[in-house]
Amino acid sequence: MTERKKLVAGNWKMNGLRADGLALAGELGRRMGSADASDKPRCAMLVCPPATLLASVAAMLAGSGIALGGQDCHPAPKGAFTGDLSAEMLADAGCSHVILGHSERRHGHGESDALVREKVAAARRAGLVPVVCVGETLEQRQAGAAWATVDAQLAASLPERAAEAGELIVAYEPVWAIGSGLAASLEDIAEMHAALRARLGAAVRILYGGSVNPGNAAAILALADVDGALVGGASLDAQAFWSIARSCP
Ligand code: PEP
Repeated sequence: MTERKKLVAGNWKMNGLRADGLALAGELGRRMGSADASDKPRCAMLVCPPATLLASVAAMLAGSGIALGGQDCHPAPKGAFTGDLSAEMLADAGCSHVILGHSERRHGHGESDALVREKVAAARRAGLVPVVCVGETLEQRQAGAAWATVDAQLAASLPERAAEAGELIVAYEPVWAIGSGLAASLEDIAEMHAALRARLGAAVRILYGGSVNPGNAAAILALADVDGALVGGASLDAQAFWSIARSCP
């Protein structure tokens, strides 16, 4: 079986002025640097700060082993797109990953699957690993359409043979679980991840996201097809994020 090291990724969203963001990154870097091997998380770690902090967090985390990611990118490499950032710019700022198709962009900014697919191609072009988010709304789950929704998002958001073309990470994030304090049940996570595994194959890392916290992380991260977590709120607290990462089996 393909070896997939688990990954705990923090999505800081639109949080963090210089002082807080650098204190958070500094504390994570300090823990990575000072922890004994037995106290270090067994997983890989990734933080995705707001764009204003990327360069300074990159400098702060250099050599720590904690990877840096963007939260979105434009499909084009450069041009007249006021306010946007290209995948090349993220790579230039020190990123290795980029979150794409987060529900807050799909629902808050009207991003379509087709646009997400273009962004995945852009990430690949710039050498970034795309972290592609999919997930159903509460209405879709209650209508029994959770898998149909996620499957359709995957089919339309990923370029042809995306899993074979380079490293790919998919994050299953039920929209109703994001920021709600109400994570999906272990049964629902296990069922969705098994279906995703069957669709995506053994090489793709599949993360769960949605109200992961230090109290529920160990049980979620122990599930067979869960290769890590995408963490929002709890990633803003160094102790909580570290504790989630330390929960990885
Ligand atoms: C997210 O925004 O990707 C997320 C999972 O948020 P939270 O952990 O706060 O639910």
